Amino acid sequence: MNLLWLQAAECGGCKMSLLCAEEPNVLDLLDGAGIEMLWHPALSVERGAPVRQILAAIDAAWLPLDILCIEGSILRGPNGTGRYQMLSGTGKPMLRWVQALAPLAEHVIAVGTCATYGGVTSAGEDIADVVGGQVQAVYANSPMFRGFERLLLGKAPGDALGHWCRIESGKIASYQIIAPTTWNFCPRDTEGVPGPVEAALIGAPVRQGEDTPVAVRRIVRSFDSCMVCTVH
Ligand code: SF4
Repeated sequence: MNLLWLQAAECGGCKMSLLCAEEPNVLDLLDGAGIEMLWHPALSVERGAPVRQILAAIDAAWLPLDILCIEGSILRGPNGTGRYQMLSGTGKPMLRWVQALAPLAEHVIAVGTCATYGGVTSAGEDIADVVGGQVQAVYANSPMFRGFERLLLGKAPGDALGHWCRIESGKIASYQIIAPTTWNFCPRDTEGVPGPVEAALIGAPVRQGEDTPVAVRRIVRSFDSCMVCTVH
């Protein structure tokens, strides 16, 4: 599988948190999953014409695209042109590139809150007319919306956040949210592998006389989860 990463209106934080991963690091992770990076604005050496060629090849459907990652929110202004953010050297706004490439990708992943909901860039007066993947008009006709299924994956402060939404006849038929706490406090899987919090608690020291071990509280709090109050 291959992957293209587009950088829309963002602060770089999503990318940096991904690049800070250590075990495994992002390149090993992609290698292990058999994913080839077609282009990434920070990781790839290609600049200028080679990048335009990659984009043109995908746009012309010569080069299949399996995964399109969008980092950052999409600027639709001014007046719906998207020209507040041009993809440098292409003469086209990021909005138009996303609209062109999303329908060709087998999977579209909105990376982070900005790409998912508009994020901080949509705050205030929103003169740039900012949206995230929640607006179907941006990612319209992407295969991920076939059957009107929508999947939004983002990074919340606690960890990964997923929204699965099914829309029928213009109404929400089902909406499933898996919040970071759900992943982190998940029960053991069918192989008996413990969830992250359970794994982290194994071997936690309990000092003599402790009824509520401080190590347990520290470990659980470090996950920034919704369970902290319960642990108190
Ligand atoms: S979600 Fe937006 S504001 Fe947050 S780190 Fe990513 S790009 Fe930056």
